[in-house]
Amino acid sequence: MILTITMNPSIDVSYPLTEFSLDAVNRVKNVKKTVGGKGLNVTRILKQLDAEVMASGLIGGVLGEEIKERLTQDNILHEFLSIKSETRNCIAILHEGQQTEILESGPIVSTQEASDFLNHLGKLAVKADVICFSGSLPQGLPIDFYQQMIQVCRPKPVMLDCSGEALMTVLKGESKPYLIKPNIQELAELLDQPITTDVKQLKVALSDPLFAGIDWVVVSMGRKGAFAKHSNRFYHVMIPSIKAVNPVGSGDAMLAGLAVAIEKEKSVDVVLKQGNALGILNAQEETTGYIELVNYHTLIKQIQIKEV
Ligand code: ADP
Repeated sequence: MILTITMNPSIDVSYPLTEFSLDAVNRVKNVKKTVGGKGLNVTRILKQLDAEVMASGLIGGVLGEEIKERLTQDNILHEFLSIKSETRNCIAILHEGQQTEILESGPIVSTQEASDFLNHLGKLAVKADVICFSGSLPQGLPIDFYQQMIQVCRPKPVMLDCSGEALMTVLKGESKPYLIKPNIQELAELLDQPITTDVKQLKVALSDPLFAGIDWVVVSMGRKGAFAKHSNRFYHVMIPSIKAVNPVGSGDAMLAGLAVAIEKEKSVDVVLKQGNALGILNAQEETTGYIELVNYHTLIKQIQIKEV
């Protein structure tokens, strides 16, 4: 079973408007409300892949209940820990070809809730083969909370997709994740230097001691594919050029693909091809966290892995 953890989920609301008027009433008809948060995108993709998946994390209030209800409707198993503070809304106003976003920071987690979650996670981890942590940490949790979560999941492999200080704290800590998936910007931020998609430069970048002890470092590079380090070997993933419709969530789809292949102990080649294929399939769709699997096998054949 693959366990996905979303510490700060949301109900994402999209308001399409022909014209957005500031300081005025804007009426909207076709409101779309979806379950959001990177970990829940990973969960939805895993479900479409027919993987055995369970979603967990922190949830609160009426919106928290709505998330649980929607997951149940989609036949997705979930075991969230309920907290006192309300789960958030993230609002996207789509207007005149632009997107204005209003993102709530989300609930504030108490010290007791943080410790209850570590207990809760420890129990779920026993049943899991692979565990994915995705997204930001809500307020109230210490910056080393992902590190504490990795410790309670031990010895299960943890795939971590987060950025900034939360990621840096984990990399500098003692308990290592099994896999991290920074994109180019996140990698540049970690190393505090500009990074390009140049293979030689990427090889040097991933040889940094910061990444020692992590089995898999997969750097996703959008339409340029990916670059990975595994067991001190380096791989360049070349992908076909496609018509991207909406690449938001491609990183989450990629994580889902990597998780399924790793759970099944597939070869390096299969892990990287599957991860990239799902990222590409997500980019080809309008809806975030949705894929059409009909072209999967044709696509896999077009992805090339080169050890460098
Ligand atoms: P993130 O969403 O974390 O920033 P990326 O945008 O790098 O991640 O996307 C993850 C993967 O999805 C890429 O490595 C690539 O395989 C695929 N992908 C993303 N955007 C595109 C695109 N525009 N064209 C083709 N493949 C894409």
